[in-house]
Amino acid sequence: MSQSAHARSFAPPADTGGRRNLVGLSRTEMEAEIAGLGEPAFRARQLWHWIYHRGATDFAAMTTLSKDFRARLADTHVLWRPQVATAQQSQDGTRKWLLRLPDGQEVESVHIPEEDRGTLCVSSQVGCTLTCRFCHTGTQRLVRNLSAAEIVGQVMLARDALEEWPSPAEGRQLTNLVMMGMGEPLYNLDNVVKALKIVMDPEGLSISKRKITLSTSGVVPMMARCGEELGVNLAVSLHAVTDNLRNELVPINRKYPLADLLTACRAYPGVHNARRITFEYVMLDGVNDSPADAHALVRLLRDIPAKVNLIPFNPWPGTAYACSTPAAMDTFAAILMEAHLASPIRQPRGQDIMAACGQLKSASQRLPRTARSVDTLAALEKEKPLPADTAEEGL
Ligand code: SF4
Repeated sequence: MSQSAHARSFAPPADTGGRRNLVGLSRTEMEAEIAGLGEPAFRARQLWHWIYHRGATDFAAMTTLSKDFRARLADTHVLWRPQVATAQQSQDGTRKWLLRLPDGQEVESVHIPEEDRGTLCVSSQVGCTLTCRFCHTGTQRLVRNLSAAEIVGQVMLARDALEEWPSPAEGRQLTNLVMMGMGEPLYNLDNVVKALKIVMDPEGLSISKRKITLSTSGVVPMMARCGEELGVNLAVSLHAVTDNLRNELVPINRKYPLADLLTACRAYPGVHNARRITFEYVMLDGVNDSPADAHALVRLLRDIPAKVNLIPFNPWPGTAYACSTPAAMDTFAAILMEAHLASPIRQPRGQDIMAACGQLKSASQRLPRTARSVDTLAALEKEKPLPADTAEEGL
């Protein structure tokens, strides 16, 4: 299926009349919306400030707007946020939300606090079309793309939970954003571009493109556009050093094999030694973790400004794979380091909650529909939590 046919087939539901949502509109669309109410363009700038800098969820709070205009806005528009179906917090501070969308679909986002930063992992689709073999989300069929509002809404919801309004200039708990949650963001690029431009806007959420990373499984034709229109950091789910193995682990490789993928990486706009591409490599016992694989990886990446994230595999029910041994991971990392490839082994986070991408949604779907509400946490907790890494793309 072509990219445009894919976007049409899995489009989010259109706004169906009634009150219209202002969240997720570009600045130009916001101005047009406000012009439709007979108001000048500067009102759109004021609204933008209230929505994305102050985090207003109610027009009544917008005290720089006239009472009459606020009342008219409340009659015709809404400031929509995803509903929290389930919220979990790990002992290590990792927070995970299962979010309910207007049509009842659910997606996940995760906040991972660290000493000097806080990263939000954001979803781009409900389910995923790509069936990567090691990925739990890959077992869930693709239902649809998320709208720009649903993507921006994940960031705003996290800001709500972190009580981080107005957007602070310094000392933020949410400093970085990774498009590594459920779905393949390059299969929903129009909405991802629109949403990230709102997220990057300096008069609003104001998260710089240098702090945003988009992770792809390798949708080669869309990679250049991502770099040109967004200029964000790129991460590539690599996971194998031969086409044979990558065809099995990341089936999109059959369409865009390693040679094409690496050519697109070399050409990624803005890539250089100070701004490297991250290659994600999940460590699978006896599958891709031998010293020979490590040497092959060094050869594969030798002319690309690159770093490698080694990700201990997080097993989920029904998977055919197991995590590499600590010794195998250490040996693998040492070979990369010797070749001057930065290659940290990612530390598992959120091990006491169901933090592997897609697990919370699967658990929710196993509950009767009536039980899927904000108090589903208790029911979910009855299920045995799995050792979990968190916030890696579908891991
Ligand atoms: S790893 Fe990413 S692209 Fe692959 S199935 Fe999982 S969510 Fe989809």
